[in-house]
Amino acid sequence: MSAFLEAKVLSVHHWTDRLFSFTTTRDPALRFSNGHFTMIGLMVDGKPLLRAYSIVSPNYEEHLEFLSIKVEDGPLTSRLKNIQVGDSIIVGKKPTGTLLIDYLLPGKNLYLLSTGTGVAPFLSVIRDPDTYEKFEKVILVHGVREVKELAYQDYLTKELPKHEFLGDMISQQFLYYPTVTRENYHQMGRITDLIENHELTKNLGLPEFDPKNDRVMICGSNAMIKDLKHLFEARGFKEGNTTIPGDFVIEKAFADQ
Ligand SMILES: Cc1cc2nc3c(=O)[nH]c(=O)nc-3n(C[C@H](O)[C@H](O)[C@H](O)COP(=O)(O)OP(=O)(O)OC[C@H]3O[C@@H](n4cnc5c(N)ncnc54)[C@H](O)[C@@H]3O)c2cc1C
Repeated sequence: MSAFLEAKVLSVHHWTDRLFSFTTTRDPALRFSNGHFTMIGLMVDGKPLLRAYSIVSPNYEEHLEFLSIKVEDGPLTSRLKNIQVGDSIIVGKKPTGTLLIDYLLPGKNLYLLSTGTGVAPFLSVIRDPDTYEKFEKVILVHGVREVKELAYQDYLTKELPKHEFLGDMISQQFLYYPTVTRENYHQMGRITDLIENHELTKNLGLPEFDPKNDRVMICGSNAMIKDLKHLFEARGFKEGNTTIPGDFVIEKAFADQ
């Protein structure tokens, strides 16, 4: 039996010349937890060309959604960026990953710290009703270089609070904190700096980070993950994994060359 399922592209949205999203059909056989990633790709010269992708859409949706970088000369994305409605992609049958609320100990506030396409897994975590059962406040921090890279900003600020089933939880429990590093914006700075200088918690009106109350998921570049891991460990947070839950969990948004 093949390790892959076929999916048909339903829509494509280009955010910038480096970033796009697309939705596809979902084979009912594909089961996953919110926060998981899976292998996706294209058939190239009769062989599967696959890369890891976080699933943006929550697991109760009938379709799948992905957020993708466009890497110049990238084996997959230089092709994937040209997909059109009706095209086929292949999707791995075994989603996996560490960014699951199950791998965190109970807590009060859940911080989802992301840079770039690292926001992708959190878009499914924030649309899981269990997330709001388990945590009082859910804070999505998205760091990008330029304002136009704040993918899903309108959806998060305008549409999601009006969501038929999640709207009330979103309005009362969800906080969105976009931050930009290379352009003027009302919220600026690297996530590490915003935590170290207490600006993040101050602007959110929340208490200082404390392992007693706060749980954290981190998804970004290797450098961002390394810095934040040290920062939280220095504050007494313990890392969790798929077998032992902890105060924070991490996952790479991409593998560096
Ligand atoms: C666990 C995991 C989850 C991932 N989820 C996503 C996702 O949801 N969306 C996504 O676009 N990519 C994601 N990636 C990266 C993805 O697997 C590919 O690397 C990416 O699609 C580029 O593929 P490529 O073949 O074109 O180039 P590759 O040869 O894979 O990458 C070339 C180089 O491009 C850079 N790069 C790759 N991906 C990114 C990125 N996302 N942001 C910034 N720079 C990057 C890196 O320096 C990399 O070495 C994930 C990777 C991992 C390990």
